Order: sequence, then structure tokens, then C-alpha cells
Amino acid sequence: MTEKIHGLIQEMTLQEKASLFSGLDFWHTKGIERLGIPSLMVTDGPHGLRKQAAGADHLGLYDSVPATCFPSAAGLACSWDRNLIQQVGQALGEECQAEDVAVLLGPGANIKRSPLCGRNFEYFSEDPYLSSQMAASHIKGVQSQGVGTSLKHFAANNQEHRRMSVDARIDERTLREIYLASFEAAVKEARPWTVMSSYNRVNGTYASENKTLLSDILRDEWGFEGIVVSDWGAVNERAASLAAGLELEMPGSFGIGEEKIIAAVQSGELPEGVLDRAAERLLRMIFKAVEEKKPAAAYDQEAHHQLARKVARESMVLLKNEDQILPLAKAGTVSVIGAFAANPRYQGGGSSHVNPTKLENSLGEIEKKLEGRGKVLFARGFDADTDEMDAELLAEAREAAKQSDVSILFAGLPDRYESEGYDREHLRIPANQIALIEAVSEVQPNVVVVLSNGAPIEMPWIDRVKGLIEGYLGGQALGGAAADLLFGDANPCGKLAETFPKTLSDNPSYLFFPGEGDKVEYREGIFVGYRYYDTKQVEPMFPFGHGLSYTRFEYSGISVNKQAFNDTESVEVKLTVKNTGAVPGKEIVQLYVKDIHSTAARPDKELKGFVKVDLQPGEEQSVAFTLDKRAFAYYNTDLKDWQVESGEFELLVGASSKDIRLSERVTVTSTVSIRQKIDRNTTVGDLLSDPVLRPAAAELLAKANENNPLASLPADGGDASEMMAAMMKYMPLRALSNFSAGHFTEEMLGKMIEHLNHVQESQGLSE
Ligand code: BGC
Repeated sequence: MTEKIHGLIQEMTLQEKASLFSGLDFWHTKGIERLGIPSLMVTDGPHGLRKQAAGADHLGLYDSVPATCFPSAAGLACSWDRNLIQQVGQALGEECQAEDVAVLLGPGANIKRSPLCGRNFEYFSEDPYLSSQMAASHIKGVQSQGVGTSLKHFAANNQEHRRMSVDARIDERTLREIYLASFEAAVKEARPWTVMSSYNRVNGTYASENKTLLSDILRDEWGFEGIVVSDWGAVNERAASLAAGLELEMPGSFGIGEEKIIAAVQSGELPEGVLDRAAERLLRMIFKAVEEKKPAAAYDQEAHHQLARKVARESMVLLKNEDQILPLAKAGTVSVIGAFAANPRYQGGGSSHVNPTKLENSLGEIEKKLEGRGKVLFARGFDADTDEMDAELLAEAREAAKQSDVSILFAGLPDRYESEGYDREHLRIPANQIALIEAVSEVQPNVVVVLSNGAPIEMPWIDRVKGLIEGYLGGQALGGAAADLLFGDANPCGKLAETFPKTLSDNPSYLFFPGEGDKVEYREGIFVGYRYYDTKQVEPMFPFGHGLSYTRFEYSGISVNKQAFNDTESVEVKLTVKNTGAVPGKEIVQLYVKDIHSTAARPDKELKGFVKVDLQPGEEQSVAFTLDKRAFAYYNTDLKDWQVESGEFELLVGASSKDIRLSERVTVTSTVSIRQKIDRNTTVGDLLSDPVLRPAAAELLAKANENNPLASLPADGGDASEMMAAMMKYMPLRALSNFSAGHFTEEMLGKMIEHLNHVQESQGLSE
């Protein structure tokens, strides 16, 4: 293959070569007929296929061929189920093969920095580990079918506000630990065929022409071998983006990109070798797609619909279940209230909009459950197209609620409230829905709310309802899935992949979102989501990782295979989980790591492992996690690498970030010694806490202090040596001479610094 590709590149004219790097139209790459290079179709993504038959746009305004609409990423992530997401990926891959699509544009691995981001419904989580695991599973599933993916939007596309021009200003550590980490493991573990560069700038440079991101980190560090494709219209200057590592501009630019590339080559600004390398990568992908194309592929629509129902069931989160109001008995009179019960809100707006193969609604599915055993009363309750209250609809709903044993209210965010292209301005649901919840709960004590929304909402009405199911945007089978959970035909087993704050202003990005003009500074740094709420001890409405079940789980017997180890070793953590309730259920066991003492600012705890277990009543299972260096490390910007600070760590195992059930301590020792930059302003404390320098430094300091009058000051009521040590800790070396009454000279200070530097060199620590 390599030989064939090299041969083809040699045969290409400059014009032909340059033509490859921009799309043919909205959805196709360019081919070169003369050389037998075919054109490929790429299309959205991520949770359903959006193949447009004729007439094209990229924001979902025109219809596309029918395809299965799975829950969007915000919901999928709540399953915390790698296998399940992989199955979704497989199904998507099958549909792509059947529709002759070579690359599916997804998944999206951007971090949910603010709950206001209009596109959060398409993203997995506020946590980079969970997000990257979900993205990797999605990619593995799609690609197992010989169809490529496009991991997007790389990087730091965390808002829609001014998305095509905004500059995300992010410090290096935060970028590495949060925003890039969400892509990193997905790239390394799942090897997507393509990565999509985002619209925005990152630290001053457009992502589409950001060499640090596209070449240095993505390719050189992470080993990415696929191609980088621009988001639709994200290219700023085509020659600069090609030089930075972006192979494919999408969609076509009517020859502009091509001309710019040719001009840059002719002027000597762009070496032709760059084009050759880019062409090679592109052709490799094109021929791979051709090779893996399955002729006459088809898929089973009903089977995919059933999978969508299963996935929706396993993704929905039971947030509240007072008095065990759920599951409901399949008897009596149930009032089903809310416009979303009959016309479900099941997907988000924009480029991910799918034309579903079929659509279940909750009202119809609840009627099926109660057929012959109970009665269903329906009231629309609100008009989803407006926030205005409609007295008649309210009165009707109140009446239905009064006449029933229980009311199930289908509420949430209407389409117009959240979409690609713009952000939300607040976290409230429409006023007419709040009024409806209040009106119904006044006459009916048994209220269950089922939410359809892509991101967190504020819930001033939470105390008025006994049951609450977060359905996110549950896809085409959300109606059946909700009914299965409501009546106990399935046991809820999803958990939140993001924190629900009590109020918007509690969110850490609140003061800095969406920025000023074209600049947004991520000043909350690494303290995103629960990293902030848990560290700052801000009580959320529902914490990260929270989700209830109709059964109970007991955690016991935590153990580690070693208590102390160094950062080249990994450690295994084991425990047992038991279903102690009466029905089968699945539990998501979460493992967090906490650095007990650190000099770097670190979050209270960070998610480093999770497992979902399926248990029959009374059944128990052993669960194991393996943690390596990365689980204990932070990104050290001086070292430009991940570093573990030697010391004690706590391994916390829980049912949510706030519900820690077991813990174990381990000691990790770093094998990386860091050379200190020693000068006259280095502090005594920093020298004495450095294992390499401590012996020499202690000796030199004792000598220097021999004539220091402060060292013998009588202490008032305390231990003089302890106080002295505490005071000395933050003293710069230059102060030794100031306080020595002339005995410790500048010259002696210079010699001391020289000696300490020499000690570091002799230990092999070079600069
Ligand atoms: C979106 C991408 C999408 C592309 C093609 C862009 O506006 O940001 O996520 O894949 O359009 O529709």
C-alpha cells in the first residue's frame, strides 16, 4: 500500500495534490479520477446518522435519510457503560456501511465547563476520564465496522457563544489535565481515523492552525496516525493550517483553499514535502475506507430501535425517589401530564439532528403498560412553543391530577432553549412548566417528574415532587424506556456524568463565562465540575456520579496488592459489591484518588476508575481496578510532563463523588528527581524538603547560622527551635547574610549556591 501511495503522489501535479486538501462539497472528499482516487462520504454524527439525500446544509435544517436516533452523548455517558456505548458505535457503523458513509463525524469529547454551553447535550461529561472512556468506546464500536470516526471538536470548544472566533485562554496545566485529557485517552486507546479541529482559537491561535495542538501534541506525543479535518468552515488561512497539521478542509471552499496552498508552495512559504506527507495520510485513509467497504450492507431497523430503547433505559438517572414512589404499580389511575409526553423532546438541534426510523412517545407507552389494569388521563399542561401560561391548560392538568392516584409530569427544555450555535442564558425551565409543576403538586401529593433536557436545570420545585427521572435527550425510544423504568420493568442504573448545581452562580466558570468579546479566560483552572464543588465544599443539587436504584448495594472488603510503591509500578485495588435488595440491578462503582498533601494545588479528589456491575438479588461480585502513574500525577509545567509528588494518597471508592463507601491509603514515591533552580532567593524550606539537597543544605545552613543572632533568640512561651525552623522555612538564602551581622558574607553565599548546584549535578540532575 505504501508503495502504491508513494507512486500516486509522485504522479500528481501540484494542482492535483493541493486539490485533495479541501472537500468536494458539504459531505465528500475530492477524488482524482485520472489516478483512480475515489471520493468518500463523511457525515454527522455523533449519535445517529444524518445523511442528506439531496440539498445540503450542515446545521440539520434539511431532512436526512431515516436512521436510528440513539440518546445523545449527555445521556449515553450516564450509562458509564463502555460495552453498551461500543454496541451503539457498532450499530452506527452498520448504518454507515448501509448508507455508504465512510466516516461518521463524532463523538464529541469537549468538557462541560459550564452547564450553559448550548451543545452540552452532544458532550459526555465534566470529567476527562469518564469523557475519554466513553469517546473511546464509541470510536471502537463504529470503527469495528470498517467505518471511520471524527473525534471532535479539538480543542477547548466549550461554548457556542462566538464559537468561530473566540480565543479560549487556558493555562497549560488546565489544558493538559482537563481539556486535552478528555481527547488523549480516546486517541491513544481507540485510534480514531480522524480528529476534527474546532472553530475557536486556543491561546491565541486558531485550533485549525495550531501546530502545538495538531502536530506536537496530537501526532508526536499521542501517536495519532489519522488525519485532521477542520470543523465545517473552521479554516482561517489554508496554507497555515496545512503547515500546522490539518490535512482536510471541510466543506469545499470553491477553490480558495487550493489556490492558497499552491501560492504558498510557489512562493516557497510552504515546502512541497508538507503536501506529500499530508497526501500520504489522506490517501491511506481513503484506501482503508475503500478496502473496508462492505458491499450490499444492510441493517435491522427494529433491532437498532430495541438497542436504542435499552440504551435509553440504562442511561436515564433516577435522581430522587422519596417514599419509594417508584416503581409505580400497574393499576389505578395515572395522570400523564405535559406536552413532552405526547411530543417527546428526544434530540438536540443543529448538525446532530437525526431523522428517526420511528418514534415512541411516553403517553402511548404508559397506556400500553396499564392496558386492562388501570386508567390513563392525559393533559397537555403547557405549550412547548411558548413560556406563556395558559390558564386553561393548567386547569385541565389540575383536574386530571386530582382524579388520579399519581401524576407523571413530562417536563424539561424545549428545543428553542438549547442548540448548537448558541448558549443558554440561565438554567431555568420555562415559567409555564414551573407553574404546571406547582399547580399539579398542590392537588396531588404523588408527583413524579421525567425530564427531557440536554444539560442541568435549576429545580426550585424539587421539594414538591417525590420522584424525579433525568431522561436527558433519550433518542427515538425514550418513551418506552421511561415507561419501563416508571413501572419497574427495568431498574434505573444510570448515574450523572456531571454535577447539577443548586443555582447557576455556584458553577465555577460562572464569573468567566462566556468571556469578554472574543476572549474567554478559563480562570477557574483545573477546578471544573465536582473538582470544584468537592474542594470548595459547595453543596450541589445532585453530585457527580449520583443515581438511585430500586435495589441497594453494599460495598465491602477493600484491599490493595501493595501499600507502598513507586511511580513506575501500578497498583491493584479490589473490593466486593453485593446486591442486598430484592430486585436485580446494576451498580456503577467509582474510584477516586486524593492526594493527601501536595505542594501543587489539587482537587479534593479525581475520578480514576469505574466499573458497572450487574447483580441479582443477594449476588456479590469482586471488582478490581488497576491504577498507574497517571492516576496519581498532575501535569508539572516546569517539567513539561506528568509528575507524582511523593507521599500518601487516598483511594476512595464510592457510589458517587459525595457517597464514598470505602477507602485505603497508599504511599507512592516518585522516581523523577527534579532539579531546583537555586539562587539567592531560593528558600531554606525548599532546600530542606528536597531529598537530594537536604543533607548538604542542612550542614551548610547550620554553619551559616553559627553566627546568626536570630538563631539564639529566646522564645516567648514556645519551643525556640521549632519556631526558628518555622520562621526559617520561608527565608530566602540572601537573608542569611543580612541577619548574620556580617559573618556570613555575600561571597560565602555565592559559594553555598555553587556547592548546592554541584550536588545536584553530581546526582545526575541536569538542567
Ligand atoms: C459542527 C460539527 C459538524 C459539522 C458538519 C459543524 O457546524 O460543529 O460538529 O460535524 O458542522 O455538520
